[in-house]
Formats: sequence, C-alpha cells, structure tokens
Amino acid sequence: MAGEQSSVTVNGVAYRWPRRPVVVVCIDGGDPAYLRRFLDDGALPHIARFVAEGFGTVADGSMPSFTCPNNMSIITGTPTSKHGISGNFYLDTATWQPVVMTGPELLRGDTILAKFADAGAKVVSITAKDKLRRQLGKGLDVRQGHVSFSSEYASSCTLADNGIENVLEFVGMPQPGMYSMELSLFVLEAGVKLLAQRRPDLLYLSLTDWVQHKYAPEEAEALRFYRALDDAFGRLAALDATVALTADHGMSDKSNAAGEPNVIWLQDILDARFGAGTTTVICPITDAFVGHHGALGGFVRVWSRGAVSARQIIEHIAGIDGIEMALDREAVCARFDMPVDREGDVAVVARHDVCIGSSASAHDLSGLEGHRLRTHGGVSETQVPLILNRPLTEAYKLKAAGQRLKSWQIFDFAINGTA
Ligand SMILES: [Zn+2]
Repeated sequence: MAGEQSSVTVNGVAYRWPRRPVVVVCIDGGDPAYLRRFLDDGALPHIARFVAEGFGTVADGSMPSFTCPNNMSIITGTPTSKHGISGNFYLDTATWQPVVMTGPELLRGDTILAKFADAGAKVVSITAKDKLRRQLGKGLDVRQGHVSFSSEYASSCTLADNGIENVLEFVGMPQPGMYSMELSLFVLEAGVKLLAQRRPDLLYLSLTDWVQHKYAPEEAEALRFYRALDDAFGRLAALDATVALTADHGMSDKSNAAGEPNVIWLQDILDARFGAGTTTVICPITDAFVGHHGALGGFVRVWSRGAVSARQIIEHIAGIDGIEMALDREAVCARFDMPVDREGDVAVVARHDVCIGSSASAHDLSGLEGHRLRTHGGVSETQVPLILNRPLTEAYKLKAAGQRLKSWQIFDFAINGTA
C-alpha cells in the first residue's frame, strides 16, 4: 500500500514513493515564448511564484517535436528510441500503408503511471484528445480505482472503461468542442476535482494545442487561455501537490509576409524528379483533427520503394531553401535518439519558418480560415518549459546545473528532485 514502498523502478530509473500528490501537466504546444511574454507582463501570478520559489528552465523535448512521441517520452521517462513512438503515423513497408501509432501495443516499455499503479499508488491520467488516451493508460487497470479518460469523450465515460462516470456533472462543465480552449481547460478542472476529492498519488494531465496553433503570444485569446491555465495551476498547487509543468513541443509561425503558409510540397518535388509511385512522403503530424494546421508540420519521412536511394533523395532536396536538414535513417536516429525500425529512408526537417507537406492536392488548408499557419515538428520547436512549484534538492540543483534537461526527466525531477 501507499507509503510502504520505498521506490518504484521504471525503465531503469528509481522513483521514490511520492510524499504528496504529484501533478505533471503537459501544455501541448506550450512554446516558451508564451510564458516569456505573459510572465514579463505579470499576467501569470501562480507560474511566476512557481519559478521564483521552485524551479524553472527551458528543456529539450524529443524529436520529432510532435504530441505522441513527447507524451510517451514524458510518461516513460525515456527517449523516443526506447519507447518507439516516433510520430502519429509510420509507413508499414509490408503493406505500404500508413499505420496510426496510437495503439498501446506499439509503445515499448512501461509507463511511470502503470508501474506506480502496480505498486499500489492511485493514478489519474486525463488527456484532451482521445488519440492519446490508450497509450497514456497502457497497463493501467481502471477497475483498481485508477482513472483514465479524455475530455473529447468525457460525456461517455464508464466505470468499466475509464474508472469514472458522469464526468460532466462531476467537473461541472458541458462537453467541450474539439476545436476549443475548453477541451484543455476541462482536463485541468477534472484534475483539480479529482485531486481535491480522491487525492491520487500521481496525476498526468495532457492538454491540446488548438489555441497555440491558432493564436500567437501577442493575441488576446492566447493570453485568455494562459490566464485560465495559471488559475488552474494555482488551485492544484493549493491542494498541497507537487505541480510540474512542461510541454510536448513549441510552436512556430510558418507563414510569409502575405499571410500564406510557407510550404514545401515534398511529394510533388520527388514525383517530378523520380516519378510518381517511386517514393512515399508521410507527414507524421497527421491525425483525425487537423483543420487548424492542415496536417502540415516541420518534419516528414520519405520511404523509397527501391528504385531510388536515400542518397539520391537527399542530394535532390538538401539544397531546397527552407529545408534545414535531410538525413538518412541511421544519421537521423543517431542524432535525435529515435527508433531505427520506425524511421523512413530519409527524414526531412524544415527551418523554423517553413513547413513540409506531401502533395499540394492532399492537404486541405481551408481550416486555417485566414489565420497564419502556426505549427511544429522540427528542431526549432523542441524547446519547452520545465517548471516545478517546489525547490529542487541540492542533488537535483547540481543535476540541473550540469546538463541541458530533457522534458522526459520531468517525473524524475518532480518525484525525486523535490523535498
Ligand atoms: Zn499540434
């Protein structure tokens, strides 16, 4: 039972038993630029207090800078090479079909949440988009009093599947829409209520980046969202919890002066040079809800059907303006600590102000509705905040001073690094 365990080891890291509830929040798309601006303006009093009294830095997230890989890194405490989730999609070369990577069977290793649950801790995992829920809940038996649900399907939660029912009544909010800031705020409100009423040992709260895709830091809606986040973080901290904040990735403006997206249509370029059907470009940012970014990101993978080599592809595209790097499988995996067996023949990373799509005809940009394209995926969007509301121990101060931290160290810092 709680308190009797001295520590729980997950993927080689020993985590001590938490002395108070630990809440880790992943602010999807939480680029440090938002916090810099709003903290400078004095608009976020709780986060400002966390940084002043606790700890705050900018850490590196995992590549590619997408939601699924980084959430899995955070909840396993490992790089992408270990847990295997390197995007929302990869290409199955046996069938030549894109495979969605959100199934728990594709996630390698244990999650910190499930191992603590096995050891007798009470665990809560809430996400905005349902695509993350099953991987976040891998190995978590909700019949044992744990909770795992998405705000996307809050209205249809059952005790059998989610460990909680009547969620809308419990939280006191209506079912939020897919394209709304409430989809994220619902996650936090549910976390506050569960922390107050059930006092779980570990909570993982994962938001969605609809606001950051749509609004730059200087826009009023972004400030309104961050004020609401700050208010919720303050209430979590007031419940005597260790509150740890990070993000899965940042967000960059990728439009030109006229407001049009700066897009490299890579499949069209490769088809023109090597012939249609010779290569397949996969955009691993794709999911079922892409209206606000048109499935355009800063990182794509190219698979060759055999007639053209990785070297030929790289030689053809490496000089294109806006392509920051084009690397073969071994090089990109070595450089960014990614899983070789799920990598394409060539990985292509865009510059901060550019995104890469497949064919112009395959992307629907009407969902941008006149907004500038803001998106992520490249190296330029890997910087994320890492903030704790409690001061670090001397040992973890040294650890933080001696290295650039990874966002997937946040559970280690929150659980082991605070007094
Ligand atoms: Zn996104």
